[in-house]
Amino acid sequence: MTACKICSQDTRTIFDPQYDHNYYYCNNCEFVFLDESKIVRPDQEKKEYSFHQNSMENEGYVQMFREFINKAIEPYKSQISTALDFGAGPGPVLAELLRQEGFKTDIYDKHFAPEKIYQNKKYDLITTTEVFEHLKDPVATLKLLKSLLNKDGILAIMTLFHPNDEEGFKKWWYRRDSTHIAFYTPKTFQYLASLVNLQVKMSDKKNTCVLGGR
Ligand SMILES: [Zn+2]
Repeated sequence: MTACKICSQDTRTIFDPQYDHNYYYCNNCEFVFLDESKIVRPDQEKKEYSFHQNSMENEGYVQMFREFINKAIEPYKSQISTALDFGAGPGPVLAELLRQEGFKTDIYDKHFAPEKIYQNKKYDLITTTEVFEHLKDPVATLKLLKSLLNKDGILAIMTLFHPNDEEGFKKWWYRRDSTHIAFYTPKTFQYLASLVNLQVKMSDKKNTCVLGGR
């Protein structure tokens, strides 16, 4: 039995014969993760990201971030002056929009801006969009992000929530991207938040949640 990477409980295997992939579903926290043997290497991963059309010229992409800002950040705006966009990608669109909001914004990306600019700093806001689905060890990343938050800081996360039923999951387009290896529901984020002594301040049913202090 494979233990859940987040809560250590037993998981159930979901086998996808088309790709010969095993996924593990946790009944306790609803986390789903791809078998280690199928995770793509970092150089392949970077190549895959470079194909993404992530720029200010892509209107759909910009619009997606505007909605994210309205939903997840606007309600907390008065308490934010500094921000970190963690996992900014090849064209730092969200960071640009955050700067337009008046936040002093740093960016970090494992592949495209690898300098650890966040070292010895704390932020009022950390954003991670389209990051959590790539994580091999979500708990380790969450612990890092928590350590970079100011006391009243918030962590705004966007990752598409999985359908939480096996048939739906097998048909789900989001896992066709070979670099997507970890999938969540709002319940998973409840569990993750409690692990690092944060609370879920807001969550929708689609792809967004905000974690913060009490
Ligand atoms: Zn679990």
